Amino acid sequence: MKDNYDLVVIGGGPGGYEAAIRAGQLGMSVACIDKRVYKGEPALGGTCLNVGCIPSKALLESSHRYEAAQHELADHGISTGEVSIDVAKMLERKEAIVKQLTGGVAMLLKGNGVDWLQGWGTLVDAKGSDKKVKFTALEDESETTITAKYVILASGSVPIEIPVAKTDGEHIVDSTGALDFTEVPKRLGVIGAGVIGLELGSVWRRLGAEVVVYEALPEFLAAADKDVAKEAGKLFKKQGLDIRVNTKVTNAEVKDGQVVVTSEKDGETSDESFDKLIVCVGRRAYSEKLLADDCGIKLTDRGLVDVNEQCKTSQDGVYAIGDLVRGPMLAHKAMEEGMMAVERIHGEKPQVNYDTIINVIYTHPEIAWVGLNEQEAKDQGYDVKSGSFSLAANGRALAQGEGQGFIKVVADAKTDRLLGMHAISAGAGDIVHQGMIAMEFVSSIEDLQLMTFAHPTISEAVHEAALSADGRAIHAIQRKKRK
Ligand code: FAD
Ligand code: NAD
Repeated sequence: MKDNYDLVVIGGGPGGYEAAIRAGQLGMSVACIDKRVYKGEPALGGTCLNVGCIPSKALLESSHRYEAAQHELADHGISTGEVSIDVAKMLERKEAIVKQLTGGVAMLLKGNGVDWLQGWGTLVDAKGSDKKVKFTALEDESETTITAKYVILASGSVPIEIPVAKTDGEHIVDSTGALDFTEVPKRLGVIGAGVIGLELGSVWRRLGAEVVVYEALPEFLAAADKDVAKEAGKLFKKQGLDIRVNTKVTNAEVKDGQVVVTSEKDGETSDESFDKLIVCVGRRAYSEKLLADDCGIKLTDRGLVDVNEQCKTSQDGVYAIGDLVRGPMLAHKAMEEGMMAVERIHGEKPQVNYDTIINVIYTHPEIAWVGLNEQEAKDQGYDVKSGSFSLAANGRALAQGEGQGFIKVVADAKTDRLLGMHAISAGAGDIVHQGMIAMEFVSSIEDLQLMTFAHPTISEAVHEAALSADGRAIHAIQRKKRK
């Protein structure tokens, strides 16, 4: 460790570590400070690699294969005999993937000349041209003051806790606890039908749990396009996820090894018992020990670090990125902001396009979107035209046994410009990247109509959705809307 760097990054999650790597590539002297200890070892990669995106996807994959082996292979004429799940082995696989990736990040930092400092970083003085950061080592709690020309704050977020369902790490857990159940709960309660509730609820349902999801809002998946949310509600119900909207949990307590959840709907109260309860009602920016009281960095009234579109804070030379600042709490958004901040420090002028950040929910089928949904486009005053195409008429989807869902495009009827793409389909998360690229290049619906999509692919449904926006999808009957 040196006592002076060009750049100090506080936080080694996807936002912080990518920023540090990019700065190393650009020849800056860089330290990346992270206090995370995962399963007894200091670990880079933040929430995303240790207890977020990656472990959840590992479990989604394992549980999907288990379900497919039980219920789908027979349709192909494949018999398997009795299928069983070894939860310990599944968790071992997840840990191996996490370790491979977090170890890989450590190697990348080293290879790019970045010093990984294991401990807490606190911005003590942000005002002058030499910023001061206090580093408190994990190993011996020793304190060192480091100076830096630039600082990037990337301390991420933590789960929101609610007083009516306090986590105890055993029966009532947050998302981190729900990645490590050592056996399949017979009955699982989930508070919050958001991204985590749907993904982790799906994991344990596929493995055999009876899952009840409590959602306080009257509308299911309020952020998604209404057609997508409706289809998702139907499909999840068929899969056995019991999603109860407009239902508020008013108490949860552990009695005789069971979690008794009290909930209220339309003025009526009821109690239900579960083996485990996951609380996933959102995340909040995390800034414990990050900022000395008088360091001069402004926060918003929601406790986020206040930044402009370029992630600049209220102090010159100090940037803040990722879950710590406004915008969606997504790893790819954090990564792009980290790179933007570093390149701006280096004198370049990149800009994150916040209008084309993709959302994906990794259920089966996946749900994904980019840009405006139909209602948002109408609310913004667009004269909207939309088109959608069902996967039930897509040959590849049927061949894969995945003829569920649809792909939808939303466009400005006056200019024909693509405003959004929405998918609930196999591989939706990849599919909507086509919408993202098209929107970045200000494409029209006609552009998508004129391109040749390979057959048979699920992407053909993007082509058909674009054709359908003008009433001319081929594999759907649209005679009345014909031009
Ligand atoms: P973080 O990843 O939270 O990293 C911040 C790091 O800073 C942490 O390691 C923390 O220990 C460290 N730190 C904090 N304060 C200090 C300090 N003072 N000193 C030193 N170190 C400090 N997003 C997606 O895009 N796709 C997904 O599929 C997805 N799945 C998810 C699944 C789950 C279960 C969860 C919980 C989240 C998921 N997310 C997903 C969200 C994603 O993980 C976050 O948006 C992303 O990790 C944010 O990155 P970040 O760098 O801002 O912060
Ligand atoms: P979320 O905001 O997606 O969903 C929380 C849900 O809980 C909302 O529907 C909300 O209405 C509901 N809720 C809030 N308080 C409640 C209460 N008291 N009772 C019942 N319901 C209540 O939050 P999350 O699922 O916790 O995820 C946190 C963050 O992590 C999200 O911002 C998301 O972006 C990120 N994440 C992303 C992915 C992904 O990209 N695939 C996966 C997991 C997490």
